[in-house]
Amino acid sequence: MSKIKIPQNLLPQDGRFGSGPSLVPDLAVQELAARAREFMGNSHRQANVKGLMARFQQGCKQLFQLPEEWEILMGNGGASVFWDALSFCGIEAKSQHLSFGEFSSKFARIVAAVPHLLEPEIIESELGSCAEPVFNKEIDFYALTHNETSTGVVAELLMPAAETAGAAKASQAGRNFLTAVDATSAAGAISWDPSQLDIYYFSLQKAFSADGGIWVACCSPPAVERFQKLANERWCPSSLDLNLAYQNSIKNQTLNTPAIATIFLAVHYLDWVLENGGLIWAENRCRASSQKIYDWAESCSWAEPFVKESKNRSPLIATIEMDENISSSEVSAVLRENGIVDTDSYRKLNRNQLRFGLFPVREPEDASALIACLEYVVENL
Ligand SMILES: *Cc1c(COP(=O)(O)O)cnc(C)c1O
Repeated sequence: MSKIKIPQNLLPQDGRFGSGPSLVPDLAVQELAARAREFMGNSHRQANVKGLMARFQQGCKQLFQLPEEWEILMGNGGASVFWDALSFCGIEAKSQHLSFGEFSSKFARIVAAVPHLLEPEIIESELGSCAEPVFNKEIDFYALTHNETSTGVVAELLMPAAETAGAAKASQAGRNFLTAVDATSAAGAISWDPSQLDIYYFSLQKAFSADGGIWVACCSPPAVERFQKLANERWCPSSLDLNLAYQNSIKNQTLNTPAIATIFLAVHYLDWVLENGGLIWAENRCRASSQKIYDWAESCSWAEPFVKESKNRSPLIATIEMDENISSSEVSAVLRENGIVDTDSYRKLNRNQLRFGLFPVREPEDASALIACLEYVVENL
C-alpha cells in the first residue's frame, strides 16, 4: 500500500472510471432486484420476457430515431462475436477497415484470416487520429468504428464519398456496399445519422451501463438483404447466422437464451435517457464531464490530452498523456487503493497514459472530483 490517502471530501461519488464495463448505477441494480421475479428465471419464450425485448428494440428505434423499416437484431456473444458473424454474413468478398486502435485493428485482423474472403483493405492511421473511408468499387463492406475505446478517438460517420457525391442514399437499389459501424462504446451516448449507415452494432456494458454478453445491431433493409443472401449462399454456423438472428429478432427473441438481467438494465438506461430528452441530452452530459478533463489537461504542466485534434476527442473516453517523470501506472495504482478504479491506459498500447470512462450515467461533478484527486495524488507522490 502507498501512504497516499486522498481526503474523503475530494473523492467522486462513484469511483468506477473504467472504459468498459462502465459503471452500473446502483438505482438500476436495485430496480432489477425489486422486479427480478417478473423476468429472471422466466422462460424467454413467454410474453413478459419477450415484452422486455420488444421494449428494448422499440426504445432503440426511438433513441436513434431510426426509419421505421430498420430492424434491431440481437444475439449472444457481444461485439466480438458479431465480428465473426459479419465475416460470414456481412462481408460478401472484400472489406475496407479504418484501423486506428486496438478494437478497429482487431476486426481487420479477424477478417484477414477468413479463408472465404479476399484480403481486406486496411487504412491505418496513427494512434490518436482517425482516417476517412475511401470509395473503391471493389469494396462491398466498409468497417468503421464510432469511438475507438482504446485511444479515446471519436470518428465522424460518413459513408464513402463517391456515394454521397452521387445519387442520394434513397437510391439504395443501385448501391452494392454496406457501411457498418462498431459503436460498442459510443452507442447510446453519441448521436449519429442513420442515412449514412447500414449497420450500427454494439454491446451493452459500455454507454448503456448494463452488463456484457449480448450484441445488438441496428440494421437497414439493405443490410438485412445481404444477411439473407449470404446465409443462403455459404455455409455458416447457426450461432453466427445473421439471417437466423433476424428471423428471431422480429419475433422479439434471440436464437438461444439471452442474459435477461443485461436486457433489463439496458431498458432501464433507455427509459432514463428518453425521459430526460434523448440522445443529445446523453451526449451533452458526457461532454460536460470530458470537457472538464480536456480543459484541465490542456492547462496542466504534467498532463495533456492524448488526442491532439479536439474534433477527434471522444466525449466519453478521455485519454490523458502524462509527463515522462510521472508514472501513470503508479498514479492509477494509488487511485485504485483509494477506490478510483480502472483508470489505466489500454493494456496493449503500453503508453504513459491514464484513461477515464465518462459515460452518460456519470454525474459530471465527478469529473471535477477526479481532477482534484489526480492533483492530490501527483503532489504527494
Ligand atoms: C468493448 C469493445 C468491443 C468488444 O466488446 P465485447 O462485448 O467485449 O465483445 C469491441 N469494439 C469496441 C469499440 C469496444 O469498445
